Amino acid sequence: MEQMSYDLQSSGPLKGGVLESASKRVRMIFSVMASPNRIDILRILNTKGPLTYSELKALAGFKSKKESGKFAYHLRKLLRQLLVALNKAERRYTITNLGKLVLSLARQIEERSIIESGKMYVRTSRHTIEEFNSHKIIQSLVREANLPLEQAHKITEEVENKIYKFQTAYLTSSLIRETVNSVLIEHGHEEYRNKLACLGLPSSDIVEMLSSDEATRNGIDGIMSRTASSVFSKYLIFNTLPKDITDMHLAGEINISNSGVWGLLPDTVFLDLAELEGLDLQGRLLSVARLPAIKSPDDVAAALPVLISLLSREASTEVVLEGVVPALVKSSSTQDDIVSRFARALATSSGAPSSPVITTTIAVPADGLDVKQVNALLDGYRKYVDATPVPRIGLALSYSSNGNRMMKDSLDHVTAAVRSGGIISIGNNNNVRASSGIRKSVSGSSNKGAAAAMALHSLSINLPRLAYESNKDETYFRAKLALMIKPSLATMAMRKKTIVDYVKKGLMPAFASTSQSMQRGTSSIMINLTGTKESVYSILGHDASGGSEILQKVLRTAAEVAAAQGNQLGEEAAGIAMVSDDSGVRFAGLDSEKYGKVSLLQLQNTTSYSQGMTINGRQLLLGGKAAAVHECAAIDRLLNGGFAAGLDVTDLSATEARSAIEAAAELPFLRPRIRAVVCTTCGRRSKAATADKCEFCKSQHSMPIYS
Ligand SMILES: [Zn+2]
Repeated sequence: MEQMSYDLQSSGPLKGGVLESASKRVRMIFSVMASPNRIDILRILNTKGPLTYSELKALAGFKSKKESGKFAYHLRKLLRQLLVALNKAERRYTITNLGKLVLSLARQIEERSIIESGKMYVRTSRHTIEEFNSHKIIQSLVREANLPLEQAHKITEEVENKIYKFQTAYLTSSLIRETVNSVLIEHGHEEYRNKLACLGLPSSDIVEMLSSDEATRNGIDGIMSRTASSVFSKYLIFNTLPKDITDMHLAGEINISNSGVWGLLPDTVFLDLAELEGLDLQGRLLSVARLPAIKSPDDVAAALPVLISLLSREASTEVVLEGVVPALVKSSSTQDDIVSRFARALATSSGAPSSPVITTTIAVPADGLDVKQVNALLDGYRKYVDATPVPRIGLALSYSSNGNRMMKDSLDHVTAAVRSGGIISIGNNNNVRASSGIRKSVSGSSNKGAAAAMALHSLSINLPRLAYESNKDETYFRAKLALMIKPSLATMAMRKKTIVDYVKKGLMPAFASTSQSMQRGTSSIMINLTGTKESVYSILGHDASGGSEILQKVLRTAAEVAAAQGNQLGEEAAGIAMVSDDSGVRFAGLDSEKYGKVSLLQLQNTTSYSQGMTINGRQLLLGGKAAAVHECAAIDRLLNGGFAAGLDVTDLSATEARSAIEAAAELPFLRPRIRAVVCTTCGRRSKAATADKCEFCKSQHSMPIYS
């Protein structure tokens, strides 16, 4: 039969007749398509496979007896036009190939008509509903991703086809963006996709965040800043940083701290307010009143909370305020007056726990204070510390050589403030430093007297990793370190340019007013070194006697490379630092995974690599003084960016702690510290983790802190 009809079709005289009957068939089929019920039946058979009469009838929605006739009528039409076939043996209906063709045609017509009528609507993140318009996709591809127009057309066409196939999808702009990105990836356009990628949070992360106590503890600000941080952190890691730096960070060779604000704000900011004629925000922050010149204690008391609340948004790690404390003291009538004024000013100035440390400096005797006044300030500070679960305000005492005697007369008060859990640092030679040990100006640079300075230092290098990979070869180790400093410093120089630009645009109004948009401001870039002790002593295998020399050699190399690289980059103030950040814990964790439990960490019962350098108070008293203090002094000279020599006095009595501080205070910079735990239920602080429960309220929820 088939053969015959084929012959018939190809023979001339009968052709017209065949065409005529074919066009009649088409008309008949179109009439079948005219009923949505019949298209429905075809769709059901297409997706479910062969069905019995009653199954098909039920699925097609003809449920009542009354509708039986209707259903039979539609099915008969479909059978007659050969769109559906009945398998007699099985008593089941199936869709034929012709039926499938008709169904697909119906779908295409439907899609086209939606396009033609413009009935597809997009819900946008700008809170609007707009008609779908493929031209907008082309525009984004060209504008946002710089895709060549021709390619943009091609990609868009594919995206359009996909979107029409979604049919019932609730069309949103993010769905369109996802579709565009998946098409870009299918075509190998990874770079373009990265530019178009949306940097938001998965909704599950938001649900999780809102149900976590830790995230909600700091109120709405905490949640908002967490969310924003995540977006800017992704923007930094995947869109801004050079690829090699991103990979070094992800691999744990380097660490970028505070990635949420890394590309927006400096890490440490220094402001000298001594000669400031009031902080004029010049319309930069319209909601804040012009601050009066700080001339009397009352001015300080009024200005300090505003200043601190403004400035804590302008640095990621620390804000150092010079000249505030002396003004507060100058016309206070009595010692008691100073104590209570200072305590009150600090208490009303405290910011959120996640905000940067605010350090107020006292230069002795440069600030013109006598011993009694300094001691009164220390007592006032201690009062603030005692009343605050996690103090975020620090006191930096710096003594010039002729101030040393005065330091001895303040030792009892210093010790008491330290033992309370205060953030106290003691410096010599009136060098301004942050509580972290970061210098206001890289030594050797000409930045010294600036009214405003910013230091960028939150990029740390994992030295133990370098040591592991250097086969115990110290020369190779130093060469690798040099290779790492170069791209890191170049990245910091880039970062500096961006941030200085943001200052000019108004992202840091308080800093900008003080530095007058960097005219009077300076900036320095630094690379931080983490795990120096572990890398030299444990991994490279040097003993205590030879190790100290090797360590200094390593640091000298680092400082030289940084200076040379800084020169090349046109950065006068480029240096090396050894201070604490969050890289110690991260590096130690990653290396433990990579190399198995890092034995040196197990030995010391810690989960962090060393940062800065810590002198054990007890050992110092037992006669280890000369070696430890000597080594720290030598390192301090080498590290032009900053260095924190810590002194742990946790386990010492008041008298012992006093002696230890006195012995170490000859260092250029010293941070005496204690370990403590804060109860997160009642907010009170206990000395160390002696018991599982809070000694005041018996709560078991606590948080360790290291002052
Ligand atoms: Zn408690």
